Amino acid sequence: MTPASLLRVARVLHGTTAEGPGLRTAIWFQGCSIRCRGCINPHLFSAHGGTQLTAASIIGDALASGVEGLTLIGGEPFDQPDAGRALAEAAHAQNLGVIAFSGYEYETLRDRDQPTRAFLAEVDLLVDGPYQDWNPETERALVGSENQRFIHLTDRYQNYRPELARNRIDIRLRPDGTIEVAGFLDSDGLMDLGDATATKRTHRRA
Ligand code: SF4
Repeated sequence: MTPASLLRVARVLHGTTAEGPGLRTAIWFQGCSIRCRGCINPHLFSAHGGTQLTAASIIGDALASGVEGLTLIGGEPFDQPDAGRALAEAAHAQNLGVIAFSGYEYETLRDRDQPTRAFLAEVDLLVDGPYQDWNPETERALVGSENQRFIHLTDRYQNYRPELARNRIDIRLRPDGTIEVAGFLDSDGLMDLGDATATKRTHRRA
């Protein structure tokens, strides 16, 4: 069993622009009890995978990478309320912002137990609701279905307009030759990416 002070995470990515406004550290929580049909991260469903990290180690690396804040995604961050709260609290202590995605709706989290409410109290912007594969989002960045809401719990991200933002993708080549990808693209973004790579290929041949 994971001690409450440790986070069980699938992945941490520092310095990404693909998971919210500005430069961010994205943390994928391991484990999701919601299990939406069509979820793109079914490998994060199990609460027993991933690795265990302390909030202090994540915050230290986040500060070193010069990010504005954290994005907590998953998996389901609110399935680890104590560890999530400790991470968000440590982030705010260093003036880092906190955006959290949850498959639960705000009202459900607000009416839950004290650890959940304490975690929620450390979130600046909550993106809530389960993914509905029958109800795809076509206008707003960061969300996959139209039911998902951007709920500002503080004014830190009040100027962020998902309807004006574009989805971004972050592709990194690791030293071992494997590729790390974050974010996702809509069809326009995929076409732009295709055009860009086609242009590069053309230039290489010239
Ligand atoms: S809440 Fe998120 S991680 Fe969990 S199943 Fe739904 S989309 Fe996937």
